[in-house]
Amino acid sequence: MSNPSTWSERATTLRLDGRAVIEGKRVDAVEGQAFVKHSPIDGRRLTEVARGTAPDIDAAVKSARAAFDDRRWAGKAPAVRKKILQRFADKILAAKDELALLETLDMGKPIQYALAVDVPATARCIAWYAEAVDKVYDEIAPTPDNALALITREAMGVIGVIVPWNYPMIMAAWKLGPALAAGNSVVLKPSEKSPLTALRLAELAVEAGIPPGVLNVVPGYGHEAGEALALHMDVDAIGFTGSTRVGRRMLDYAGKSNLKRVYNELGGKSAFLVFDDYDDIARAARTVAGSMFFNQGESCNAPSRVLVHDSIADEFVKLVAAETPKYQPGDPLNPATELGALVDETQMKTVLGYIAAGHEEGAHCVSGGLQARQETGGFYVQPTVFDGVSNAMKIAREEIFGPVMSVLRFKDEAEAIALANGSSYGLQASVWSHNINRAHRVAKALRAGTVHVNQYDEDDITVPFGGYKQSGNGRDKSLHAFDKYTELKTTWIRLD
Ligand code: NAD
Repeated sequence: MSNPSTWSERATTLRLDGRAVIEGKRVDAVEGQAFVKHSPIDGRRLTEVARGTAPDIDAAVKSARAAFDDRRWAGKAPAVRKKILQRFADKILAAKDELALLETLDMGKPIQYALAVDVPATARCIAWYAEAVDKVYDEIAPTPDNALALITREAMGVIGVIVPWNYPMIMAAWKLGPALAAGNSVVLKPSEKSPLTALRLAELAVEAGIPPGVLNVVPGYGHEAGEALALHMDVDAIGFTGSTRVGRRMLDYAGKSNLKRVYNELGGKSAFLVFDDYDDIARAARTVAGSMFFNQGESCNAPSRVLVHDSIADEFVKLVAAETPKYQPGDPLNPATELGALVDETQMKTVLGYIAAGHEEGAHCVSGGLQARQETGGFYVQPTVFDGVSNAMKIAREEIFGPVMSVLRFKDEAEAIALANGSSYGLQASVWSHNINRAHRVAKALRAGTVHVNQYDEDDITVPFGGYKQSGNGRDKSLHAFDKYTELKTTWIRLD
């Protein structure tokens, strides 16, 4: 479906349902409240969404607890859960066009990437954990002859999942995959800014054979539904992805309630280091522009601090600026569009506020810097590059979460490492160098959960994703994610 008008036409007939899914059924909020969801593409009204509050969360947690306690899911053999989850993944792929269109209308990302990235990555994640779950063995400890000690992993119980709006389906899948495969029940609270695909996923899960009650989705605001979920006394763990500001609250909620486990996947201000011994700086410039402006810059791991050696910085900045015409904002429903709409007016104003701060603090804007496509009624900002940035500036310190790149210059390796690590965040980093010793040395010195060398795009469900420092504590993806949603049990058996 490559014709732009086709997606716009389909959007007019798409079924939009903002009601919660509890015990496998669509339901309105207990107290009947709803909020109106508008599209960032053009400000059009999309639908009403149930405004879940504490009673809705309580109903969802009760449903999830009952499902866990009667073992309708946890009690199934791993191979059976595998088959059902594989069916779930197949259903996601079968609904590819619908889910991609919902995602684009809801949060403004280009339809080509919703189709090529978000939907397949969601399905692959669910399928990968399905495949893994009947291949993971437990342990027997090396104890003396007169005893046997079994070390086993057990499903934890009811997992509360709270996710952001930037990759609504993928962020949900990174938690749902391991949590459901391990046998838990889940209550998912999607972002109020992009709840529609999560609600649809819950329906597909039931169609695939996941028993009602095992996956409940309650939309609503963070300070209402989110807070009620994180404070709930019968939730065993919270898998949270979002801002560092709200991640702090998650720890506080756990302290104030039942000390539930909290796994935080938070913000980032990732550094991209280009050394003068890297010989294809045009490739480095293309890569950083592509990664920075992907998803409108609304990616936790966007390489928003670009650190370049003094001797190549002028040329590098020119090359990066020359990339920006490719990323001019366009209609997200047009399959040719590379950069879509920011999620809402608030986010757009935040991004424009950071651009103003960059100017005020003396950074030099070499490209972009303006709002775009005002005539559409949607929320667009040009891809923006600031040169002459220092780590003391707000645009280098704070996560902008929009298409704004800061270029900083360094004189030597030690300064580059100090600048890269001079951040409260530690999600990802990238080192560009042909010197193998330097590449290893710098990669080791960087305080980040993932370090790329001479690339930034590689990503796979097989590897952990998460941050150091204030970028969080948990790890999504890979087999390590099972650790978050299982309890480790030791059983001692005396052998007479
Ligand atoms: P956010 O923290 O504002 O919201 C995230 C979720 O928390 C939403 O569902 C929201 O409704 C809920 N929430 C908000 N306030 C709450 C409260 N008081 N109590 C309980 N829940 C509350 O983040 P956002 O703006 O939706 O997303 C952007 C952030 O997410 C960025 O900082 C980005 O870096 C981060 N992120 C991190 C990763 C990662 O894997 N590390 C991935 C994607 C996004």
